[in-house]
Amino acid sequence: MLKETPYWWDTVTFPAAHSGAWPEAVDVAVIGSGITGLAAARELARRGARVAVLEANTLGWGASSRNGGMTLTGLKLGAGTLFARYGRELTRRLFAASVAAIDLVETLVREEGIACDFTRSGHLEVACKPAHFRAFARSAEVMAKEFNHPVRLVARADLPAEIADPSAAGELVVLPGPASQPPPPDDGDEATRIRRAIERAEGDRALAATMLGMSRTTLWRRMRALGLYGQGGEAEG
Ligand SMILES: Cc1cc2nc3c(=O)[nH]c(=O)nc-3n(C[C@H](O)[C@H](O)[C@H](O)COP(=O)(O)OP(=O)(O)OC[C@H]3O[C@@H](n4cnc5c(N)ncnc54)[C@H](O)[C@@H]3O)c2cc1C
Repeated sequence: MLKETPYWWDTVTFPAAHSGAWPEAVDVAVIGSGITGLAAARELARRGARVAVLEANTLGWGASSRNGGMTLTGLKLGAGTLFARYGRELTRRLFAASVAAIDLVETLVREEGIACDFTRSGHLEVACKPAHFRAFARSAEVMAKEFNHPVRLVARADLPAEIADPSAAGELVVLPGPASQPPPPDDGDEATRIRRAIERAEGDRALAATMLGMSRTTLWRRMRALGLYGQGGEAEG
């Protein structure tokens, strides 16, 4: 038989709503007891406002008790669409807000003692084909340049260490916030690091530059300075 309710509903008892008389007056009436309404009501109450939360069903009945529980960084729309629609400045603020939202969730979980196994693990996106991975590389560049946000590209050759699916083309790991930026791997001297990155990127220098956290021009300059052109099939240009 098809199960029509989320599995995690089986693990909780929904808190009962207040059943007494309604308050005569409140400073703020919040409609809806999802995470938005409850977080707003909590904050207002902490600041001394008299607040009532009005809910048509049970507390937390909506999307907030049905979701996958992932606190992802960033916004649904790509940076290009957001820039065109809202401009650079507002997009940057929106992105920063998405990162701050994770801090807020962490604070709420800690202060309210919510047993939800919250962890700041970051998230990963797996490319199904090389074109997706190239798009990841472009996106990683934008995230680093426009949002100063740490993103790690993992090439196909390094995938087995990260996931079990060998058919995937590569993945983009988006880390949750600047505080958790990992140090660059100690991969030998600069020339070795560059050679390895180009190897991992299967000759794609734009991708290698992103993986090394530098621009294509800088990679080109460093390769020239280190005499790496002409080695391993590399052609200057
Ligand atoms: C299947 C699924 C998976 C998801 N996975 C993720 C995820 O992994 N990560 C993530 O960040 N987001 C995820 N989301 C999105 C996330 O759950 C929602 O963005 C978030 O829960 C919205 O919270 P909310 O408080 O605004 O709305 P809701 O949680 O939907 O709360 C709205 C509440 O308002 C009540 N209400 C509505 N109208 C009235 C009215 N007129 N009078 C009184 N009460 C009313 C409803 O009964 C409901 O309880 C997912 C959503 C779904 C559905």
